[in-house]
Order: sequence, then structure tokens, then C-alpha cells
Amino acid sequence: MKCQCSSSSSSSSGVDEKSVFSLTSSSKYEDYLGEKTKGDLNVKVEHLEAFGIDSQATLKGPMEEVARVEAEEAEDLLRDLGIPTPSSSRQSPRDIFCSRTLNLQSISAIGYDMDYTLIHYNVIAWEGRAYDYCMENLKKVGFPVDGLAFDPDLVIRGLVIDKEKGNLVKADRFAYVKRAMHGTKMLSNRAVSEMYGRELVDLRKESRWEFLNTLFSVSEAVAYMQMVDRLDDGTIAAQLGPLDYEGLYKAVGRALIRAHVEGQLKSEIMSKPELFVTPDPELPLALLDQKEAGKKLLLITNSDYHYTDKMMQHSFNRFLPNDMGWRDLFDIMVVSARKPEFFQMSHPMYEVVTGEGLMRPCFKAKTGGLYSGGSAQMVENSLNIHGDEILYVGDHIYTDVSQSKVHLRWRTALICRELEEEVCVVDFLFTCKSTEEKVQLTCFGKFRSHYL
Ligand SMILES: [Mg+2]
Repeated sequence: MKCQCSSSSSSSSGVDEKSVFSLTSSSKYEDYLGEKTKGDLNVKVEHLEAFGIDSQATLKGPMEEVARVEAEEAEDLLRDLGIPTPSSSRQSPRDIFCSRTLNLQSISAIGYDMDYTLIHYNVIAWEGRAYDYCMENLKKVGFPVDGLAFDPDLVIRGLVIDKEKGNLVKADRFAYVKRAMHGTKMLSNRAVSEMYGRELVDLRKESRWEFLNTLFSVSEAVAYMQMVDRLDDGTIAAQLGPLDYEGLYKAVGRALIRAHVEGQLKSEIMSKPELFVTPDPELPLALLDQKEAGKKLLLITNSDYHYTDKMMQHSFNRFLPNDMGWRDLFDIMVVSARKPEFFQMSHPMYEVVTGEGLMRPCFKAKTGGLYSGGSAQMVENSLNIHGDEILYVGDHIYTDVSQSKVHLRWRTALICRELEEEVCVVDFLFTCKSTEEKVQLTCFGKFRSHYL
């Protein structure tokens, strides 16, 4: 490509550009057509003012100062034109971040999980209620729970419970423990080092480590860490039998599962979904856009039909145009999918044939159908779309994102709502003028440990 400064055109000032710029070329850099591809651009200072440029101000002083002034002028211009600058676009936490290239044109079908993916729950309300049921059930079997309350800031997704030691640990990408809590108390770096040293968190050892894969894990982990405190201070009655940290974890898990199995939690949420769901009017329209762009849409959820129908009606129908309902968005819907087995093996499939949820056995999924069980293989076969033509979006780190990729080569996207807060904090820090101000702000923020 020819350098523009070597052209013979004249500027509006009547000065030939050749007389202002000169190019010191190197014959070493030529493309296969013999054109120069590299050279040094030299500015003839004496002619700059002919273009209305203050040569003294432009070329004097440190380069950083010149760059800063030019950047400010550019930002002023962009602001006047109403074009967002890179710094202002950073302030949008609702974004898609890529860890590797994904060509959406090569994607024929997009599958969605439902809970915490298409439907975002108010974590404090949902997990708080799950925690309450868990504590009620623990109390019924004799555990001391008086004075305890749900603390959503105690636990975040991505941490790991060490059931052997009653700890909650944060591992780095090499699986070394970097920070740890025992019960609700943070351990010092020295204590962490003495306790774990170079030991690795091996998630395959399920009897010891429990990874917090979803926001649904928060209530259980908060209850467990608080009960570890009660076990340590000796307030758990002896009649409950000899209890270690592992046994305590099982007891808390049983109490929470009981709330799920007995259906108390879900029936309360279904009766008042507005108290538990954070509405997102843009989401149904985003799916409608994808459908109109020719993508097949799938819903694959572990929730049962009645719960799925109720929550999707509440979250989607009012934001869809005309008489469209949530079922009109999807080409295939699977409830009670039993992920991760759904991605790994085949279960019997049933078609949901009435609004009340009556089902009949079925061997092949059809477009527009609503099914219970089955397998990812059946979905692929019925759509004749396979492997990396499918993008699956979910919030469960292992089930949704790891297993669909490992077993079927589906492309995957993780919903990580926690990033929204983190992006806001990072943007906030960008606006701070001094280190002291950053320290002040982060000292009061819940993310201080990440940035200090
Ligand atoms: Mg989910």
C-alpha cells in the first residue's frame, strides 16, 4: 500500500504535502508488487504553520503531554458528536465477554437453561427463603439455630467447601488454596499456609470438596458455615450423636433437600413469583431477535413442567408482542432434563400433551414440542443440528458449561451476574483520581479483597 504522504495532491492551503512530509524508505521492506511497506515519516517543521498548526506547541514538550492534550480534544469532539468513548462504554456491565472466538453465523441453535439463566432470581429473597426452610428443618431435628440469620455476603459462587475441615476455601487456577474461612471466621495467611501448604483442591474427591457451582449453592453454604461455628462452640447437643464437619455437612444438605422435596419452597415462589424474580423486559425481546435471525431456540431445564410453565409465563409473556406466549419462542423445550446426565446418557422421554402436564411416552422430539427427560442426543437428532453448531447458555459451571462441551462439543456461554457488580466497581475505580481515594472506596466495598 502506498503511503498517502507521497501522493502529489495539494492541501487547501495550497502547499504541496510533499514539501511538508518526506519519507525515508527502506528497500528492505517491499511487498510482492514492489511497493514500499515501511519507512520513516519526517515532518518539515517550517511548513507546519502553512496548515494552520502551531508547530511550537505541537512538537515541543514531552510526548505524553502532547498525547494527553490530543486525547482530551478527541474526547471533547466525540462527546459533542454524541459518540460514547471507550471509557464510557466500559461502564455497561450488561455485556458479553469472550474467552475464545465464536462466530455466531456458524451457530444454528441456541439452547438455554432456565433458573438463573433466563430467569434471574432476587438472590437475597430466593436464597434467603431456602435458608429459612433449611434452618427450620434443622431445628426440627434438634440443631441450635436461634439467633442465626441469612448473610448473603458470607459466600460467593466459585468457592469450595472443605467438608473434612469445616472450611470454605478460595483456590487459584492451579488449585492451590489462597484464602480460607473456618466457619464464619477468616483464617490468616499463615494459618492457611500451615493447614494446606502445597495441597491441591481435587474436585474429583467428592467426599471432601464441594464446589459452589450456582447461586443456588449460596443458602446451603451460608447455613453450613454458621453451623460449623455452633459445632465448634459445643452448642450442638450430644444427643444428635458424635458429629464431625463432614457429618454436619450431610445434615445441612438433608435439611435443604427436604425443603425442595416437600415442595414448600417452590410452591411459595410459584404463588408469589413477583417477590422472587427480577424482571428483565429486554430478555424475551433478545430471544425474539435471535429467532427472527433464523436461530433455532431450545429450552433445557431441570425444573419440572409446572414450575417452568408458571415462571416462564410470569417472566416472559407480558413482555412479548401480541398474543405470543413463552412456548412460541422455542423450537424444542425440555423440562425435568436431569442435567448433567442429559448430556451424558439417554433417559426415557415423555411428551407433555396437556396444559395440566399430562405426559405420554415419546421416542422422537418434534419441532414445537415440550418434553420431559430424554437426552441431548435426541435433541440433536430431531433438529439435525450437531456439536459446535449449538451454543448452550447456562449458569451452572459444571453441568451447563463443562459437560455439554465435554460430551457433545457444544459451544457454551456462562451467565455470571456477579460480573455486573465487579465491572461497576472496576469502572468506579477508573474514575478515582488518587490511590488514597481508591483505598478509601475499596475499604468500604465488598470487593475490597480483590483489588487491594
Ligand atoms: Mg440454572
